[in-house]
Amino acid sequence: MLTGRFSSDDASIVAALIELGVQVIDPCSSGIFRLNKTLKPGLDFLTDFSYYYFRKDTFLLFNPSSCSELLSILQLLRASGLRYVIRGNGHSLNASSIPGPEDILISLTEIRDLDISNLSKGFIDAGAGSTMNEINSSLSKLGYTLPVSPDGSDLGSPTLGGFLQAGGICSSSYKYGGFWNHIISITAITDLLDLVNFCSSDPIFPRLFGTRHNSYIITNARLKVISRDESTSVDTRPINKPIPHYSSSRSPIWFNFHCDNDQSNMVVKTITSVCSELRPFWQLYDIYSYPVNNNLFIPPNIFTSNVSSFVRVGAWGCPINRSTHVLEYISKKFASISNICTGAIAANAINFRHYPIRSFAASSRMNSIIRLIRSVLLYS
Ligand SMILES: Cc1cc2nc3c(=O)[nH]c(=O)nc-3n(C[C@H](O)[C@H](O)[C@H](O)COP(=O)(O)OP(=O)(O)OC[C@H]3O[C@@H](n4cnc5c(N)ncnc54)[C@H](O)[C@@H]3O)c2cc1C
Repeated sequence: MLTGRFSSDDASIVAALIELGVQVIDPCSSGIFRLNKTLKPGLDFLTDFSYYYFRKDTFLLFNPSSCSELLSILQLLRASGLRYVIRGNGHSLNASSIPGPEDILISLTEIRDLDISNLSKGFIDAGAGSTMNEINSSLSKLGYTLPVSPDGSDLGSPTLGGFLQAGGICSSSYKYGGFWNHIISITAITDLLDLVNFCSSDPIFPRLFGTRHNSYIITNARLKVISRDESTSVDTRPINKPIPHYSSSRSPIWFNFHCDNDQSNMVVKTITSVCSELRPFWQLYDIYSYPVNNNLFIPPNIFTSNVSSFVRVGAWGCPINRSTHVLEYISKKFASISNICTGAIAANAINFRHYPIRSFAASSRMNSIIRLIRSVLLYS
């Protein structure tokens, strides 16, 4: 059956992919709804929190429920020259969780074991696919919490892996610093396909945060917890205004900049003036600025200066629409601010320089593989 217009190499890859349990995901299918589950309801294509980048054709998905399953597919993909993209809950806005032409999507949401048996010792262990909300809700019942968690949790929640990899700063960071300060160890698959446990004293540890290139796939982490009494004594609202009511047609975007303490006033002023120029194109919700203090170290991919504190300055609001023209204009205006900050980064923001393409689609080789998998599944 695995012959005809397919190369024998691809035929054996297909057999191995089927054996591992790779799924074919069509637009409008329940698979799409599950992947978008913390985004706005009813979308019939794969997207992320930008609602701008998308994948409207059929693609392949692998949903491992253990590290060994994850390692098996990575070994196969490495040997076959196919690529992959890791997805948590798609809460980033920059297309980094959407598969490209030769990519299989690997969703980590099923690697979600939660071990709270060491709470009294001040730590827990969690799988990368657990959401930050579900970790906090389990802890909260027992009087504990994570010191740093995403703001805006009522809009759904990133996974632990996604928050470690591409987040980690929130309004309580003025007291607790970044999430990285509260991680005892991280288990990750390296680009040599080894499963390694990195503890916080390991020289490579700071490089596990904010890498953006899937060079480390985080599978588990050991996290410090604090008592809820301690956390409620923290004024967590340097972000000035309450989060506005979420409306699916008017979901917000934001731009964050990291700068030295003495630059923050200037960056706030520049953002204010950019926002007033942008008034016809976006409705500003708030401009915020808060120090990220008390860091044991600062991951070099988050902020490049050799300091223990920096300031996050940012703005969030709602574009009048999500056309390329409007988003490109807003994004370019904010990108120009990067030039005035040390170590500025538009974390998770829509980023046209990294992802100039809006719509992703399978390559012809990937389409052949998908067709072959479909025909084998149909006749088996
Ligand atoms: C409403 C809202 C509020 C937010 N608030 C905050 C906030 O207060 N502070 C903050 O710092 N961020 C915040 N964010 C941003 C969010 O934390 C990050 O975008 C986070 O990366 C999303 O996690 P995710 O699981 O959805 O990852 P995805 O969006 O699916 O993926 C993001 C990136 O991480 C990679 N990735 C995901 N999981 C893993 C893994 N296990 N191993 C290796 N790489 C992985 C993906 O390949 C991709 O490159 C917010 C986002 C939203 C939508």
